[in-house]
Amino acid sequence: MTGDGTRVVRAGLPEPEPFQPALPGPEFAAHFHLPGDAVGPYTYGRDGNPTWARLERAIGELESPDESAHTVAFASGMAAISAVLFSQLRAGDAVVLPDDGYQLLPAVRTRLESYGIEVRTAPTARDAQLGVLEGARLLWIETPSNPGLDVCDIRRLADAAHSQGALVAVDNTLATPLGQRPLDLGADFSVASGTKALTGHGDVLLGYATTRDAALADSVRLWRKTVGAIPGPMESWLAHRSLATLALRVRQQAAGALALAEALRDRPEITVLRHPGLPSDPSHKLAVRQMRPGRFGCVVSFTLPDKAHAERFLAALTLVDEATSFGGVRSTAERRARWGGDAVPDGFIRFSVGVEEPEDLVADVLRALDTAAQDA
Ligand SMILES: *Cc1c(COP(=O)(O)O)cnc(C)c1O
Repeated sequence: MTGDGTRVVRAGLPEPEPFQPALPGPEFAAHFHLPGDAVGPYTYGRDGNPTWARLERAIGELESPDESAHTVAFASGMAAISAVLFSQLRAGDAVVLPDDGYQLLPAVRTRLESYGIEVRTAPTARDAQLGVLEGARLLWIETPSNPGLDVCDIRRLADAAHSQGALVAVDNTLATPLGQRPLDLGADFSVASGTKALTGHGDVLLGYATTRDAALADSVRLWRKTVGAIPGPMESWLAHRSLATLALRVRQQAAGALALAEALRDRPEITVLRHPGLPSDPSHKLAVRQMRPGRFGCVVSFTLPDKAHAERFLAALTLVDEATSFGGVRSTAERRARWGGDAVPDGFIRFSVGVEEPEDLVADVLRALDTAAQDA
């Protein structure tokens, strides 16, 4: 058993060769030399590229360290999500989605319905998706959910879905493969946006789907080729390079998020505070059971009295960028309701903790909260 910090620094690397780099650079090629019949590992740039192949091997080693798995990398998390849904579902099928998942799922729902697929939704909390599972072809889970941070029981939902022949996919973006391994918990697919904590520097869009089933991987790969949602070699290489620090970042960011959540617990202006690592959180017991110890993610969500109060708070922060996305090395925060896609109050803040020293970050946040409260 190798530890995660050890595994990540070598994940997906080729065997050492004299006078070659540890991680070969990005290979920019629209096509490869191809004599004779059109067979080979690398033919045309939409079908395969050695830089993606190395990244895919690396992600597979993290999502499924003990069993071989197939990973298909995409241009973004949405490309990966759409690939799994649209490659597996046909007209007349039913699919179960969370009603509190990523903000683009409603747009995906509309598209699925236009193709004659029945879409049912239920909340992530309390495993409510169990109630609408009957006869479904695929169950889509997002845990912890973004931005509400509810957690559902992957093993329980996967067992129920499999007992009636449904496939199970888990959006593992928030946890990362070092925080949670959906395939070990019974899922058929672990799907994620690599744009967030996986790559962690806020400079790359990327996505992937990992499965242990070769036929499922083939159908997802064919979808990628058909719609052309391929990752660029440069992005793939940057992502692979970033994986080496994933264990360091995940540990530091989770510790910082917990420190921040604990510091916010007694603030009178905060109505709802969520972080799965907080022992008092409704998600905590289940998170402890299915997530890896101390790795409950870098996101803390909380609600301030109103829009103006939230905007004063964000403006008063000095170590935190007002920006969307999460999982990066620099802390970011935003008033989530500004997008209009999530069912959250006007004062709801999604806070992403970076790798700063937790005490500096907590001091900055408490000072900004004081400033925001004074002007109320
Ligand atoms: C960001 C995000 C996505 C979409 O990923 P992109 O890389 O932005 O396309 C999907 N699911 C979750 C949970 C996300 O946070």
